[in-house]
Amino acid sequence: MDKNTFRKHGHEIVDWIADYFESVRHYPVRSRARPGDIMSKLPKEPPAGGEEMEVILKDFRDIILPGMTHWQHPGWFAYFPANNSPASVLGEMLTAGLGAQCMSWETSPAATELEEVVTDWLRQMTGLPAGMKGVIQDTASTATLTALLTAREVSTGYSCNETGLYGFPESREEQEAGTGKATPTGIGNRSGEGTAEGPALRVYASAEAHSSIEKGVRMAGFGRRNLIYIETDENYAMRPDKLEEAIKNDIERGFSPACVIATVGTTSSTAIDPVDEIGAVCKKHGVWLHVDAAMAGTAAILEEKRDLMKGAEYVDSLVFNPHKWMMTNFDCSAYFVRDPALLIKAMSINPEYLKTSKDAQVNNYRDWGIQLGRRFRALKLWFVIRHYGVEGLKEIVRSHIEMARWFASQVSGSDRFELLAPVTTSLVCFRWNDGNTPGKDLDHINRELLKLINETGEVFLTHTLLSGRYTIRLSVGQRTTTMADVERAWEIINQNIKNSLQ
Ligand SMILES: *Cc1c(COP(=O)(O)O)cnc(C)c1O
Repeated sequence: MDKNTFRKHGHEIVDWIADYFESVRHYPVRSRARPGDIMSKLPKEPPAGGEEMEVILKDFRDIILPGMTHWQHPGWFAYFPANNSPASVLGEMLTAGLGAQCMSWETSPAATELEEVVTDWLRQMTGLPAGMKGVIQDTASTATLTALLTAREVSTGYSCNETGLYGFPESREEQEAGTGKATPTGIGNRSGEGTAEGPALRVYASAEAHSSIEKGVRMAGFGRRNLIYIETDENYAMRPDKLEEAIKNDIERGFSPACVIATVGTTSSTAIDPVDEIGAVCKKHGVWLHVDAAMAGTAAILEEKRDLMKGAEYVDSLVFNPHKWMMTNFDCSAYFVRDPALLIKAMSINPEYLKTSKDAQVNNYRDWGIQLGRRFRALKLWFVIRHYGVEGLKEIVRSHIEMARWFASQVSGSDRFELLAPVTTSLVCFRWNDGNTPGKDLDHINRELLKLINETGEVFLTHTLLSGRYTIRLSVGQRTTTMADVERAWEIINQNIKNSLQ
């Protein structure tokens, strides 16, 4: 493609995106595609020859777009948001244009140094302690896996990386002489040499923790059975007394507590685990404390929500997602650690071909996570923070919280609905219940109601289970959602009650 053709289509695409920001509200929020619809319109085999961009763009509009669910729709109340913004998209375009792979300082000094600066901006904005260092990861799932791997290494004196999960006892010398024995006797070889005895490592999280915690526990080799779910209180937050009980009980029985994962803003109901009390328990027993604040972390930029980070002085690692609620398009997850040396020791690998003369003076972010190759994600975040300013971001986040509060007040003021969890930030958990329900299946009625609401195409809400009850979630967080959109959602919900009762 020559420069002028690129320019022409580039302008066309920018125009298209600019229009899309406006017109997205006229699409059905959730795609109406059925399984296989899109595939049936695509050729089974790749084209042998190159095609014209006009044709490709036409197919984008005709085939791909109808199969998109519109996360940037102002009627987006599903799951959690993954909002973007014009500033973020412009930054992302430049990242794609530069096409740099930013694994090391030397492979793009500006990418590394900008990442260092913007993650420190985020640290200041959210009130995390001075000295915590940040790095951008693709997702909270990856950041949590990174935390689990670090906790595993710290709690085994970095021996799992050496001997593997089964404490394979063979030393390098024995290996070379072919004299070692394979005696898999459980996780960890505490010294990295000698015998392979070692107690099973334990991880603790609340029963409301995100599925990425269990996935990380499985992938980091702890084993699902060593993930201990801690009971929650009536607000779905972890009970620190139950945590301490579990840790003590495990120690007595010979297990080795390695990591506690507290959630600030659970996925079901944005419950806030008491990080300060949990942190005190972790400190007492020398256990790594990781905080999953994927969604709610962004709200900590508000003075009135600073208590979300209460207890941060105990935190070894924490993740939150600017790609959820901070106007930065997917993916961009901010991972903070108290002591980068522990993370780097667990992650770094330094083959000759990656060594540079600057390594002692700079951050090489490939050593701060799992992936070697890294996108230049800091650029869009820099664009966003500069474009809105901290005050501008606060205004948007605050308005979302206010809209959620308004919606919650409608629910609690209605005799046909009830709130099922406290509204801590911008998520409302509720269900239809007119209090006159003997013989009525509330779960069934609310499932029907949600189905009807979503079929309108004007809004998209999702559900969860709280204490076994089918719960409708209304999550406010799309950048362009206004009070009128939330009022409309409330209207649609009310209009569909009658049919959901049939
Ligand atoms: C969204 C979410 C995650 C997963 O985030 P990804 O970045 O998609 O991996 C994890 N934990 C919580 C609490 C979340 O809300």
